Amino acid sequence: MKERICSFDGLDLSDDQRDVLEAIRGFVDAEILPTVHQLEADDEFPQKIVDGLRDMGLFGMRIPVEYGGLGLDLVTYALAIAELSRGWTSVSGIVNGQYIVGGMIATHGTEEQKQRFLPRLASGELRCCFSMTEPDAGSDVRAIRMTARREGDELVIDGQKMWVTNGLRAGLIGLLVKTDPTADPPQKGMTALLVEKEAGQEQVGGLTIPMPPLKKLGYKGVESVELVFDGHRVPASAILGGPDGEGQGFYQMMSGIETGRINVAARGLGIAMRAFELAIRYAQERSAFGKPIGQHQLIQAKLADMATGIEASRQLIVAAARKKQAGGRADVEAGMAKLFATEVAQRCAEESMRIHGGYGYSREYEIERLYRDTPLLLIGEGTNEIQRLIIARGLLARHAV
Ligand SMILES: Cc1cc2nc3c(=O)[nH]c(=O)nc-3n(C[C@H](O)[C@H](O)[C@H](O)COP(=O)(O)OP(=O)(O)OC[C@H]3O[C@@H](n4cnc5c(N)ncnc54)[C@H](O)[C@@H]3O)c2cc1C
Repeated sequence: MKERICSFDGLDLSDDQRDVLEAIRGFVDAEILPTVHQLEADDEFPQKIVDGLRDMGLFGMRIPVEYGGLGLDLVTYALAIAELSRGWTSVSGIVNGQYIVGGMIATHGTEEQKQRFLPRLASGELRCCFSMTEPDAGSDVRAIRMTARREGDELVIDGQKMWVTNGLRAGLIGLLVKTDPTADPPQKGMTALLVEKEAGQEQVGGLTIPMPPLKKLGYKGVESVELVFDGHRVPASAILGGPDGEGQGFYQMMSGIETGRINVAARGLGIAMRAFELAIRYAQERSAFGKPIGQHQLIQAKLADMATGIEASRQLIVAAARKKQAGGRADVEAGMAKLFATEVAQRCAEESMRIHGGYGYSREYEIERLYRDTPLLLIGEGTNEIQRLIIARGLLARHAV
C-alpha cells in the first residue's frame, strides 16, 4: 500500500512524540498483528506482548518521569492507544487500568502513595485494575452499595463488584466504596481505596475472585471478573489522598474517567483504522462483475464514509486530549470524542465486514474479530447514551442564560 492508515501522520507533533508512536507502530506490526489471531481464538493472555510493552516502558506512559514513567502528554498517549488498538484492543485494555489508577495516584495520591506505587506501576511489575461497577449499578455510579466501615486503623470492606478488567492478575485495585452510606447526596459519602492484593490469587483474606472469568463476545485475552468482598480488611492508609481523601472518591474517579474516555475513543480510532485498512485492500483484491469491487460506486461510498469518520474521530480525540492536557474539565470534549469515535468504529467494522462479503463472516478473517471487539466500546467508560447526557449537561451549563 502506498499510503499507510495512521493515527499520527499529518499532525503537528515533535520528533520525540513521533519517535514513541513510530516505535509502537513497529511493535504492533511485528509482534501483535502476526500473533493476535491465534491468541484471540484461544482467549490466551498475551504474555509475550505484555513483556514487550514492559520493555518499551509503555506501562508508564502516563506516570511522571520523576516516578520512573515516560510522562507522555495526553495527545501522544491517546495516539499510542489508537496504534495499540489497531493491533488488538485487548492489549490497550491490559494497560488501561494502569493509566486510570496510576493517573489518579499521580494527581490525588499522598507523596507516600506515589512513592509506594508509581515506580512499580511504571515498570509494569505491579499491574492494576479499576473497579466501580457492581451487579446492580453501572451507569448509575451513585447507586453503588459496597461499603468500607472503619474499625480502629482498618477499613472493613463488604460488597460485590462486577466486570473488573485485569481483576485477577492485578496486584492493586482502585476501588470505589461508600464510607458513609447515609450521605446525601450519595457521592459525598464515596471514597476511593487503593487495595493491594496478591496478583493471580483467587482468594486473599476476605476477597474472593470467582473463577472462571466472565465469558465475553470479544475483548478476549484479558480477564474480566467479579470481586466479592466479605469483611476484607485493609489499612486506613489505603484511602487515596490520605485522610483528606475520604468522601472525595467519586470526584477523583470521575476525573480519572475523563482520561479513560479519551482512551476508549482512541481504541475506537484504532479499530476503525484497521477495519479500513483491511477494507481498502480487499476492495482492490476482490473482483465482481468484471472489475475490482473497489471500482463499484457503492463500495466507494463505504470507503469514503469510513475514511471521513476516521479523520473526524482523530481530530476530536486530539482536541479532547489537548483540552484535558491544558487543565480543568474536558467532560464535553472527552464525551464527544468517545461518543463519535466509538460509533464510527462500530460502523467501520460493519462496513468492512460487508465489503468482505461472506468471508467477513468467517473466523479465518481478521475483520470478524474487529466486529466482535467493537460493541464493548459503546458500553465501557460510560455508555454512549450516558455520553450524550454528559455532553448535553455540559453544554447547558456552558451556555446557561
Ligand atoms: C467487557 C467489560 C469490561 C468492563 N470493565 C470494567 C472495569 O474494568 N471496571 C469497571 O468499573 N467497570 C467495567 N465495566 C462495566 C461498564 O463500565 C458498565 O457495563 C457500563 O458502565 C454500563 O453499566 P451497566 O452494564 O450496569 O448498564 P446499565 O447502567 O444498567 O445500563 C443499561 C442500559 O440503560 C442505559 N441507561 C442507563 N441509564 C440511562 C439514562 N439515564 N438515560 C438513558 N439511558 C440510560 C444504558 O446506556 C444502557 O443502554 C466493563 C464492562 C464490560 C462489558
